[in-house]
Amino acid sequence: MSIHKLKLFKDPREVSKVLKLIDNLAKKMPNLPINIMEFCGGHTHSIMKYGIDQLLEGIVNFIHGPGCPVCVMPMSRVDLAIELAKQGVILCSYGDLLRVPGSRRKSLLDIRAEGADVRMVYSCLDTIEIAKNNPGRQVVFFAIGFETTTPQTAVLIKRARELGINNLSVVCNHVITPAAIQHILNAPEMRDIGKVSIDAFIGPGHVSAIIGTRPYEYFAEEFLKPVVISGFEPVDVLQAVYMIIKQIVNGVAKVENQYSRFVTREGNKKAQKFVADVFELRKGFEWRGLGWVPYSALKIKKEYQYWDAEKRFVVALPEPREHPACICGKVIRGVALPTDCKLFGTVCTPSNPLGSCMVSSEGACAAYFKYKKDLIATKL
Ligand code: SF4
Repeated sequence: MSIHKLKLFKDPREVSKVLKLIDNLAKKMPNLPINIMEFCGGHTHSIMKYGIDQLLEGIVNFIHGPGCPVCVMPMSRVDLAIELAKQGVILCSYGDLLRVPGSRRKSLLDIRAEGADVRMVYSCLDTIEIAKNNPGRQVVFFAIGFETTTPQTAVLIKRARELGINNLSVVCNHVITPAAIQHILNAPEMRDIGKVSIDAFIGPGHVSAIIGTRPYEYFAEEFLKPVVISGFEPVDVLQAVYMIIKQIVNGVAKVENQYSRFVTREGNKKAQKFVADVFELRKGFEWRGLGWVPYSALKIKKEYQYWDAEKRFVVALPEPREHPACICGKVIRGVALPTDCKLFGTVCTPSNPLGSCMVSSEGACAAYFKYKKDLIATKL
């Protein structure tokens, strides 16, 4: 796609055009505002950054979903990373995770300051070089992410086996988007009209580039909820909202693809094959905020278990303990806003995060802190 065409997705004239279309269509809606959950933290940031929630005030109420891999990582897994690092391995992971406080209020960065060997990597494949350069030490890659980053971890494990790199292993925390959406739709809170009732979903763009739009068809049919996969520019999100409202006005619920410049119905088959070669479904996985979600994460297949750090290391973990005043769990479920938290913007800030939603660049608390300064002012 040319730069010129990409610019159109930020063009204020296009924004006005789509807003007018939404306004006209909204007049046909008897019950406003409608509740739309944007699953992905990237969309939450776009909505805040471009003031889309304000542009659509009275028409759409955005509910922020759990689509931020760092935010949904349960405390027990953060503790696992910290305990592994304390055992003397070279613990490698992506940036944001290193700042999430564990049960003892210390993050991986804190224990690095105390002498642990914790390293931030930009690509998981960097750990191959680290392992080659440190033949006498164990290197552990702490893999997190939705379907977008899973194929790279699969490539890492395959390559480690091909190259015979035996001092490298992976803790697999990769989670699955459709299972989380299904869990949200099945949750009593979501069915209890008056608390949270989700009318439709804006589906994740990057995840869907890998898995395609097909896996969402079930939700649209079974739960009668429109799902529109969207890009991240302001015009993308507004077009997705327009497509959702159009479905509601016409009394249909189906999957539509606004992000067709990157997403297809079938997704990226090659990436899917890498994932299927190396990983299989876990029976369940604990998500921060959502609890135990059946078949919602991946584990390393037996064939590759030599590179599975959960098989290689025995770790005694502390009893997981969240900060008592942090309501990340509710924020992740979409039943509370960051501003409902007593600590938001005062005690808890991006430079002193007390919960994962403030740490992550995709977290809802971080988005509110960055783009809703006026709300912080009213709290002070
Ligand atoms: S503001 Fe901080 S303490 Fe409050 S919910 Fe968000 S991350 Fe947790």
